[in-house]
Amino acid sequence: MVNMPERWEQESWEVLPPGGIIPEAGNSVRYETGSWRALRPVVDMEKCTHCMICWLFCPDSALLAEGGYFRGFALSHCKGCGICALECPPKCIRMVPEGSFAQEGA
Ligand code: SF4
Ligand code: SF4
Repeated sequence: MVNMPERWEQESWEVLPPGGIIPEAGNSVRYETGSWRALRPVVDMEKCTHCMICWLFCPDSALLAEGGYFRGFALSHCKGCGICALECPPKCIRMVPEGSFAQEGA
């Protein structure tokens, strides 16, 4: 017998939605996908205007906000897609290779 992960034993393909669709929105907060990231967003807070455009566009809800102000990134959910950097009006987000943080011991 093949040892299968517990989740597979509980939910076989027979109970999956047709087409493997995800029927509920906003569920990415339950999954930590930051380890997939090759590029990490880094913000220059001196230039940030707290317009929250990055928050609006992030597909993974990986932007942290408090009291109407941008507070940083939830890196455990950020896949490093770079959309926030592309959409940021003052261009204060840059995408930095993860390898450079590993060398710093971050
Ligand atoms: S889009 Fe840019 S300026 Fe606006 S809140 Fe995000 S980081 Fe700050
Ligand atoms: S890089 Fe992509 S996933 Fe990460 S915070 Fe920016 S928009 Fe969100």
